[in-house]
Amino acid sequence: MKILLVFDFDNTIIDDNSDTWIVQCAPDKKLPVELEDSYEKGFWTEFMGRVFKYLGEEGVKAEEMKRAVTSMPFTFGMAELFSFIRKHKNKFDCIIISDSNSVFISWALEAANFHDVFDKVFTNPAAFDSNGHLTVENYHAHSCNRCPKNLCKNVVLEEFVDKQLKEGVNYTQVVYIGDGGNDVCPVTFLKKNDVAMPRKGYTLHKTLSRMSQNLQPMESNVVVWSSGLEIISHLQFLIKE
Ligand SMILES: [Mg+2]
Ligand SMILES: [Zn+2]
Repeated sequence: MKILLVFDFDNTIIDDNSDTWIVQCAPDKKLPVELEDSYEKGFWTEFMGRVFKYLGEEGVKAEEMKRAVTSMPFTFGMAELFSFIRKHKNKFDCIIISDSNSVFISWALEAANFHDVFDKVFTNPAAFDSNGHLTVENYHAHSCNRCPKNLCKNVVLEEFVDKQLKEGVNYTQVVYIGDGGNDVCPVTFLKKNDVAMPRKGYTLHKTLSRMSQNLQPMESNVVVWSSGLEIISHLQFLIKE
């Protein structure tokens, strides 16, 4: 019996947002105002598609983007956490559910040599087209009205857990490690034995605090973290139980 660890990527595994970090590749390290203003709420993937098209047209090559992405810092203690998980891989399955994209996440994990720690990465599929421009698509379509159009992390998590169950893998508990607004939906659906781990001071943490003040019930335990080392401590506690 294993524990399922679910990670967000931006501002959780890495200590920044890959989609805003990549803007440093643009001329003068900023986007034209019209492009910047073209973002419509709920349509982030479409917006990033336009950003990547712009970078491509400005002559920014894949290599340059890769250099930028692989220079993003990991959050403090994450490297130690991934080494810990690797050492105890018989006790943990480990997935990423992220609204970044498949190219950025592979680059970051490969450069840091942590690819083998993760069993599966669920994110918006991206690829370079024949012009050398990065293109990105919505991960899926769903009907959750709390989430952006391209991704409901709760739907992804439930589908994964169901699929695993059909293949005979039953998790004793789910530990969800995240920071952002799009982690709220999956976290509120966690069950009694599960653990929600919001990053201290970030949107997910603030939202959960507000919900508990409003006495909105949540079944799972909440354990706040500010570094990967604190996550290790909690995982050590869980596997000792
Ligand atoms: Mg995040
Ligand atoms: Zn949702």
